[in-house]
Parts: sequence; C-alpha cells; structure tokens
Amino acid sequence: MKYIDIHSHLGFEDYGPDQKGVIARMKESGVGTIAVGADLASSIEAIKVAEENENVWACIGQHPTHNVSKTDFHHGESSEVSHGLLGFDEVEFEKLVKNPKVVAIGECGLEYYKLEGDIEKIKVKQKADFIKQIKFAIKYDKPLMLHIRDAFDDAYDILKEYQGQVRGDVHFFTGKLPQALKFIELGFTISFTGLITYVQDFDKIIKNVPLEALQAETDAPYVAPVPHRGTRNEPAYVIPVYQKIAEIRGEEPEKVRLQLLENAKRLFGV
Ligand SMILES: [Zn+2]
Repeated sequence: MKYIDIHSHLGFEDYGPDQKGVIARMKESGVGTIAVGADLASSIEAIKVAEENENVWACIGQHPTHNVSKTDFHHGESSEVSHGLLGFDEVEFEKLVKNPKVVAIGECGLEYYKLEGDIEKIKVKQKADFIKQIKFAIKYDKPLMLHIRDAFDDAYDILKEYQGQVRGDVHFFTGKLPQALKFIELGFTISFTGLITYVQDFDKIIKNVPLEALQAETDAPYVAPVPHRGTRNEPAYVIPVYQKIAEIRGEEPEKVRLQLLENAKRLFGV
C-alpha cells in the first residue's frame, strides 16, 4: 500500500456491479481505503467490502443527516442510498464493532448546512446522536470519523468535554485555520478531499498545520478531483489529493506520501 484514502464510500450502492473494477484500479494504483458507513445498512456494507479485500478497512456509524428524508444529502449532493433511519442504534452497532476490520466510528457529527423545519429540534437530536457515538468510540477505544459542516464551534464544544479520551479525524474539513488548530490540539487530524485540486480556500490551512496533522481522502463517490471532475469519484483518485497537498506545502511528494501514510497508520491502526 503506497497511499491510503482514509474516507471513501466504497460500500455504497453507487458502485453497483462496477465495485470490482473500482477495487481493481485501486489495487493497481497501490491505494488502500477506509470504507465509511453513513447509517446501519451502509456500515454493514462497509464491513463486507473490508472483509473481502486486503487494504480495505471499515468505519461504522450514523451520519447526522444521511437518510433523514427522501432527499438525502451528503455534502449537498443527492444520493440514491437510502436505508435505515436516522438515529444511532447502539445495540445494532455493538454487533458490528468487534469485527477486526472496523477501525473507526462515524461518520458522525453535526451538519447545519441548509437545515429545514424545526431547526432547534434537529440540532438537539443531532447533538444527542453525536454524543452517543463519542461515548461508543471511547467505550471501544476507536477513533472518530467526524462529519462537521457549518457547526465547527458546536462540535468542538461537545468534544472538548471528552478531551484526553477522544481522537480521530475531521473529515472534509471546511472550517477556518483557528478552528483547525483547535481540533488538532484536541488530538484530531484534519483531512481534505479532491476539492483542494480546484478550490484554493484551504491552501492557507494546508500550509500552516503540521504535516503530522493532515490526512488525504476522496469521499468517493462524491467530489472527484481534477482531472476527473464531474465523474464518479473512486479511491484511486486520492493520488491527485496527495500531490496537491505536497504542491501547496512546497514539499517533496515522496516525503508527503510517507507521512500521510504514517498518519493514517498511527490514528486508525491500519
Ligand atoms: Zn463521507
């Protein structure tokens, strides 16, 4: 394994029968991945694809808005995946967490982007679900895979209560530099997707945090990087993300590759 995409949805139905081709391209490119669940059904699928493949691991949990309604969204993009119900069911996840391929809990967190309806009530529900998963991760000594959007301060305030007991990664980081530094101080890494290959908004953060605090991911099938923009994303496309991080930081690509791999090993034990 030369590269690791720490956050893909390799188990999602989006891949259908082409999942085999996606995995073959990943292996040819020397890429491993953590297949992330967004609810119970997709967590089970993540474990399945992890068990069937070397260099594939699973992350299990409940996304704050995934499947909350028919118009699922996951970073604002619609998805056909719609199983399960919102709400972290500890009894069900307990049956999964002991699987040796499970390396993290999530993606879980807070999603405040474009909330509709009784917003305060939704936030209370999201926070309760998030806290359940934080406690679950502590109980089973697993890192968290965080999904946070437009809610960095609230998420930080919750996590701060568990300082010293929690660790993990802030997936698809879209906060500001001071927020990034606060999460890093709390023991988290932050990860970036293919978005950084065509948007410069995060260059300042990527340049100004320690290389030890960064991770690379695809969030496939979403947000394909340049030169694959507009197509369905896949874990093999994490390589342009590694290259872009090295370019932004002005560091040797090989040095960045080795350190990012090391960061994933350290945090997830992959
Ligand atoms: Zn995701």
